[in-house]
Amino acid sequence: MTDITLDKALLNLISDPYDKDNCFYGHILAQCIINIDNKFDGIAGVGYWNDNFHLVVNPNRIEIFTLNEQKAILVHEAMHILFNHVQRKKNKAHFAWNLATDAAINQFIPNLPKGCIYPETLGYERGKYAEYYYEASSSSNQNRVQACEHFKTLDSHKLWQSSESENDEEMQKKVSTVIKQACEKSIGHLPFPAKKALELLEEKSKTHWQRELKKIMSNSIKYYEPSHKKVNRRFPNRLDLPGKKSVYMPALVCVIDVSGSMSNQEIASGLIEIEKICRITRHKFIAIQVDTMVHDISKIEFKEHQFVRKGSGGTDLYPALEYIKEHNLRHDILVFITDGGFSFGSWKEMPKAPMFFLITDKKMIDLPTKKSRQIKLVSGL
Ligand SMILES: [Zn+2]
Repeated sequence: MTDITLDKALLNLISDPYDKDNCFYGHILAQCIINIDNKFDGIAGVGYWNDNFHLVVNPNRIEIFTLNEQKAILVHEAMHILFNHVQRKKNKAHFAWNLATDAAINQFIPNLPKGCIYPETLGYERGKYAEYYYEASSSSNQNRVQACEHFKTLDSHKLWQSSESENDEEMQKKVSTVIKQACEKSIGHLPFPAKKALELLEEKSKTHWQRELKKIMSNSIKYYEPSHKKVNRRFPNRLDLPGKKSVYMPALVCVIDVSGSMSNQEIASGLIEIEKICRITRHKFIAIQVDTMVHDISKIEFKEHQFVRKGSGGTDLYPALEYIKEHNLRHDILVFITDGGFSFGSWKEMPKAPMFFLITDKKMIDLPTKKSRQIKLVSGL
């Protein structure tokens, strides 16, 4: 069942000839399961259950607004999805999180009805995430807003409490699929808030892979450095003599897929990731460029190194592993930057070292060994 008012507002959003942003948000909502409910306690609301986002609208309450206001309300709902506010709620207090999330998104939405919450309403500057407004808003601040007669709850966030997914990652995955789809449908257009939302999703996946890699790195102690914080084992009473501090220095070899399907931007986003880790662990790594043959071997020190791409043919990563074996290159960890468009068919033997696949495309791969991991880099969008 649908409703004429909602249909009109939604269609108007998707086919808005003057506003590409609206078109994008319309395509976000078009991927929701839409429920029209006359008894719904609010104008509109979103929630997540049965692996889908749901949009609930009360037609009696939304029809009193102008068409532009109705569109703004729908954009507001789309932004709650975009910024994953349902999942980010966690154990936060309901009312404070309501205010914080509305303040975070309303600053980007023109034509909202009067009396909505903005960062200024809470006494804070624009341009911050919901968690910032949540932490910053004191209870006295909340009481002031609640007591203010101009304040209106625009939509209902009640469905967030009954929302459920198997785990956080699942809902995050759904959000990035929804964003990608909307971006494709609106011919590659990505509004500014959507870029911010993507950054946020990306940050999460990055910390995830950085944590995993650091865990492996800390298991491989390689050499010792003098340190006055440690006792000298040979002369324990001589406090003036330094002891030995172990320093973690695993050898990292990075295999870069430079086949034709990999864009320079994809390669760059992978290298940026590795650079971050290497800055923390203070070490250099060997980069091997390969398409169907090895093109370039270089030791990367980020200070001066300019990455120069060498190949762009078909895809077979195994020659890089053969090269490592032939030249006896020390490798505690192998990191691959690839779009996943290769096969393990040609791999005559599997490396014993842990392998990290940084996947730049949507394809995920079947991992070949127990010690391997794959992480999707969202920035390919
Ligand atoms: Zn809201």
